[in-house]
Amino acid sequence: MTHDFTAPYVEGPPIRTANPFSARTAPDGREVVVEGLCPRCQGPTASPFRLGLPGAGGTKGVLSRLVGRPPEADPARDVLATEMLFCECGYAHPQQPADVPFVGCGASWRVTVPPPDGPGA
Ligand SMILES: [Zn+2]
Ligand SMILES: [Zn+2]
Repeated sequence: MTHDFTAPYVEGPPIRTANPFSARTAPDGREVVVEGLCPRCQGPTASPFRLGLPGAGGTKGVLSRLVGRPPEADPARDVLATEMLFCECGYAHPQQPADVPFVGCGASWRVTVPPPDGPGA
């Protein structure tokens, strides 16, 4: 699949996608970056999520749920499992409003992640 630049900007209900997404924690441990292909326009998108910094801003909902979890919890995995992702392919799709928070096709989606390794983990 290639990036569909002709897809008009549409904000709709979240898409369920089987596209593979990867989440990695930034070197400073304060940010998780989720990368993959937008399930709608197929453009490459990368969404940073700031971790555990109440009041530090962030337009996508700071991950307050992650604060106070055991340090061994994997924030990257949690982000992937819980956060809504938005297309940030960076391409100004047709009919895109001027003030959109994320430059892309307007799609949003959730990623299905496999359960943790082992029973009861
Ligand atoms: Zn897109
Ligand atoms: Zn796109």
